[in-house]
Amino acid sequence: MDETIKNHSLTSHVNGAHSDTRTQKREDYLEWPEYFMAVAFLSAQRSKDPSSQVGACIVNQENKIVGIGYNGMPNGCNDDLLPWSRSAENKLDTKYPYVCHAELNAIMNKNSADVKGCTMYVALFPCNECAKLIIQAGIKDVIYLSDKYHDSPEMTASRRLLNLAGIAYKQFKPKQVKIVIDFNSINHSDVETAQST
Ligand SMILES: [Zn+2]
Repeated sequence: MDETIKNHSLTSHVNGAHSDTRTQKREDYLEWPEYFMAVAFLSAQRSKDPSSQVGACIVNQENKIVGIGYNGMPNGCNDDLLPWSRSAENKLDTKYPYVCHAELNAIMNKNSADVKGCTMYVALFPCNECAKLIIQAGIKDVIYLSDKYHDSPEMTASRRLLNLAGIAYKQFKPKQVKIVIDFNSINHSDVETAQST
Protein backbone atom coordinates (compact mmCIF):
# COMPACT_ATOMS: atom_id res chain seq x y z
CA MET A 1 0.00 0.00 0.00
CA ASP A 2 1.43 3.37 -0.88
CA GLU A 3 0.99 6.52 1.15
CA THR A 4 -2.74 6.54 0.55
CA ILE A 5 -5.05 4.25 2.48
CA LYS A 6 -7.74 2.71 0.37
CA ASN A 7 -10.84 1.53 2.13
CA HIS A 8 -12.36 -0.19 -0.87
CA SER A 9 -13.05 -3.44 0.99
CA LEU A 10 -14.49 -1.81 4.10
CA THR A 11 -17.97 -3.27 3.78
CA SER A 12 -17.22 -6.55 2.05
CA HIS A 13 -17.17 -8.76 5.16
CA VAL A 14 -20.26 -7.05 6.52
CA ASN A 15 -22.16 -8.21 3.48
CA GLY A 16 -21.17 -11.83 4.11
CA ALA A 17 -19.08 -12.49 1.02
CA HIS A 18 -17.44 -15.93 0.93
CA SER A 19 -14.74 -15.63 -1.70
CA ASP A 20 -11.16 -16.48 -0.62
CA THR A 21 -10.12 -12.86 -0.52
CA ARG A 22 -12.85 -12.04 2.02
CA THR A 23 -12.17 -14.70 4.64
CA GLN A 24 -9.07 -12.91 5.94
CA LYS A 25 -9.45 -9.74 7.92
CA ARG A 26 -8.24 -6.50 6.32
CA GLU A 27 -4.62 -5.70 7.10
CA ASP A 28 -4.63 -2.12 5.82
CA TYR A 29 -7.19 -0.82 8.27
CA LEU A 30 -6.57 2.52 9.97
CA GLU A 31 -4.74 2.14 13.29
CA TRP A 32 -5.98 4.04 16.34
CA PRO A 33 -3.43 6.91 16.36
CA GLU A 34 -3.89 7.55 12.64
CA TYR A 35 -7.64 7.40 13.10
CA PHE A 36 -7.72 9.92 15.97
CA MET A 37 -5.34 12.33 14.26
CA ALA A 38 -7.40 12.05 11.08
CA VAL A 39 -10.55 12.89 13.08
CA ALA A 40 -8.75 16.00 14.37
CA PHE A 41 -7.79 16.99 10.83
CA LEU A 42 -11.28 16.32 9.47
CA SER A 43 -12.76 18.48 12.21
CA ALA A 44 -10.32 21.27 11.25
CA GLN A 45 -12.02 21.42 7.87
CA ARG A 46 -14.98 23.01 9.67
CA SER A 47 -12.87 26.04 10.61
CA LYS A 48 -13.62 29.39 8.98
CA ASP A 49 -10.18 30.78 9.81
CA PRO A 50 -8.60 31.66 6.44
CA SER A 51 -5.02 31.24 7.64
CA SER A 52 -5.03 28.40 10.15
CA GLN A 53 -7.30 25.37 10.48
CA VAL A 54 -6.60 23.33 13.60
CA GLY A 55 -8.51 20.36 14.96
CA ALA A 56 -8.30 18.44 18.23
CA CYS A 57 -9.68 15.06 19.30
CA ILE A 58 -9.79 13.85 22.92
CA VAL A 59 -9.70 10.11 23.53
CA ASN A 60 -10.21 8.23 26.77
CA GLN A 61 -8.33 5.16 27.99
CA GLU A 62 -10.81 2.88 26.21
CA ASN A 63 -9.99 4.46 22.83
CA LYS A 64 -13.34 6.21 22.82
CA ILE A 65 -13.58 9.75 21.47
CA VAL A 66 -14.98 12.04 24.15
CA GLY A 67 -14.44 15.47 22.57
CA ILE A 68 -13.74 17.06 19.20
CA GLY A 69 -13.07 20.72 18.41
CA TYR A 70 -11.66 23.14 15.88
CA ASN A 71 -10.70 26.80 16.01
CA GLY A 72 -13.52 29.28 15.67
CA MET A 73 -15.28 32.28 17.17
CA PRO A 74 -17.22 31.78 20.43
CA ASN A 75 -20.76 30.40 20.29
CA GLY A 76 -23.36 33.01 19.46
CA CYS A 77 -20.78 35.53 18.26
CA ASN A 78 -21.44 36.23 14.61
CA ASP A 79 -18.19 35.36 12.87
CA ASP A 80 -18.96 37.78 10.07
CA LEU A 81 -18.71 40.62 12.59
CA LEU A 82 -15.32 39.63 14.00
CA PRO A 83 -11.93 40.07 12.31
CA TRP A 84 -9.97 37.12 10.91
CA SER A 85 -6.71 38.93 10.17
CA ARG A 86 -3.39 38.01 11.79
CA SER A 87 -2.01 41.52 11.95
CA ALA A 88 -3.43 45.02 12.26
CA GLU A 89 -2.41 48.32 13.79
CA ASN A 90 -4.86 47.70 16.59
CA LYS A 91 -4.78 44.23 18.13
CA LEU A 92 -8.56 44.46 18.48
CA ASP A 93 -8.73 44.24 14.69
CA THR A 94 -6.99 40.85 14.65
CA LYS A 95 -8.58 37.48 15.39
CA TYR A 96 -6.42 36.76 18.42
CA PRO A 97 -8.49 38.37 21.20
CA TYR A 98 -11.62 36.54 20.03
CA VAL A 99 -10.92 33.14 18.52
CA CYS A 100 -11.30 29.92 20.52
CA HIS A 101 -8.58 27.39 19.86
CA ALA A 102 -9.37 23.80 18.90
CA GLU A 103 -8.14 22.47 22.23
CA LEU A 104 -10.50 24.72 24.20
CA ASN A 105 -13.44 23.70 22.02
CA ALA A 106 -12.59 19.99 22.24
CA ILE A 107 -12.50 20.20 26.03
CA MET A 108 -15.70 22.25 26.24
CA ASN A 109 -17.46 19.93 23.77
CA LYS A 110 -16.71 16.84 25.86
CA ASN A 111 -19.52 14.32 26.01
CA SER A 112 -18.24 12.64 29.16
CA ALA A 113 -18.33 13.92 32.75
CA ASP A 114 -14.67 14.90 32.51
CA VAL A 115 -11.54 14.28 30.43
CA LYS A 116 -9.25 13.20 33.27
CA GLY A 117 -6.57 10.76 32.14
CA CYS A 118 -7.43 11.29 28.47
CA THR A 119 -5.13 11.82 25.49
CA MET A 120 -5.49 14.82 23.21
CA TYR A 121 -4.64 14.49 19.51
CA VAL A 122 -4.08 17.91 18.00
CA ALA A 123 -2.73 19.19 14.69
CA LEU A 124 -0.51 21.89 16.21
CA PHE A 125 1.48 21.91 19.44
CA PRO A 126 -0.79 23.68 22.00
CA CYS A 127 -0.12 27.30 22.95
CA ASN A 128 0.34 28.34 26.57
CA GLU A 129 -3.35 29.24 27.03
CA CYS A 130 -4.39 25.79 25.80
CA ALA A 131 -1.69 24.17 27.93
CA LYS A 132 -3.39 25.73 30.97
CA LEU A 133 -6.73 24.26 29.91
CA ILE A 134 -5.19 20.85 29.20
CA ILE A 135 -3.57 20.80 32.63
CA GLN A 136 -6.68 21.93 34.50
CA ALA A 137 -8.86 19.47 32.61
CA GLY A 138 -6.66 16.57 33.74
CA ILE A 139 -5.56 15.48 30.28
CA LYS A 140 -2.48 13.29 30.64
CA ASP A 141 -0.96 13.09 27.13
CA VAL A 142 -0.77 15.36 24.11
CA ILE A 143 -0.04 13.96 20.65
CA TYR A 144 0.61 16.74 18.14
CA LEU A 145 1.55 16.72 14.49
CA SER A 146 3.21 20.07 13.79
CA ASP A 147 5.44 22.15 16.01
CA LYS A 148 5.97 24.98 13.55
CA TYR A 149 5.83 27.71 16.22
CA HIS A 150 8.31 25.90 18.47
CA ASP A 151 10.45 28.96 19.21
CA SER A 152 7.62 31.38 19.99
CA PRO A 153 7.13 32.57 23.60
CA GLU A 154 3.68 30.91 23.65
CA MET A 155 5.06 27.48 22.84
CA THR A 156 8.04 27.91 25.14
CA ALA A 157 5.72 28.81 28.02
CA SER A 158 3.49 25.91 27.07
CA ARG A 159 6.34 23.38 27.29
CA ARG A 160 7.35 24.86 30.63
CA LEU A 161 3.84 24.38 32.02
CA LEU A 162 3.34 20.90 30.56
CA ASN A 163 6.73 19.78 31.88
CA LEU A 164 5.97 21.08 35.37
CA ALA A 165 2.54 19.44 35.37
CA GLY A 166 4.01 16.12 34.23
CA ILE A 167 1.98 15.96 31.03
CA ALA A 168 3.61 13.90 28.30
CA TYR A 169 3.72 15.29 24.79
CA LYS A 170 4.90 13.51 21.68
CA GLN A 171 5.09 14.39 18.02
CA PHE A 172 3.00 12.14 15.82
CA LYS A 173 4.78 10.53 12.88
CA PRO A 174 2.08 9.29 10.52
CA LYS A 175 2.71 6.07 8.62
CA GLN A 176 1.20 7.67 5.54
CA VAL A 177 1.09 11.39 4.83
CA LYS A 178 -2.32 11.27 3.23
CA ILE A 179 -5.62 9.59 4.04
CA VAL A 180 -8.25 9.96 1.34
CA ILE A 181 -11.96 9.81 2.09
CA ASP A 182 -13.65 8.64 -1.07
CA PHE A 183 -17.46 8.65 -0.77
CA ASN A 184 -17.58 6.54 -3.92
CA SER A 185 -15.71 3.65 -2.28
CA ILE A 186 -18.92 2.30 -0.75
CA ASN A 187 -20.34 1.80 -4.24
CA HIS A 188 -17.17 0.13 -5.49
CA SER A 189 -17.18 -2.43 -2.70
CA ASP A 190 -20.87 -3.24 -3.33
CA VAL A 191 -20.01 -4.10 -6.91
CA GLU A 192 -17.14 -6.34 -5.80
CA THR A 193 -19.34 -8.15 -3.30
CA ALA A 194 -22.09 -8.74 -5.83
CA GLN A 195 -19.62 -10.26 -8.27
CA SER A 196 -18.01 -12.59 -5.75
CA THR A 197 -21.16 -14.15 -4.27
ZN1 LIG B 1 -4.10 27.50 22.01
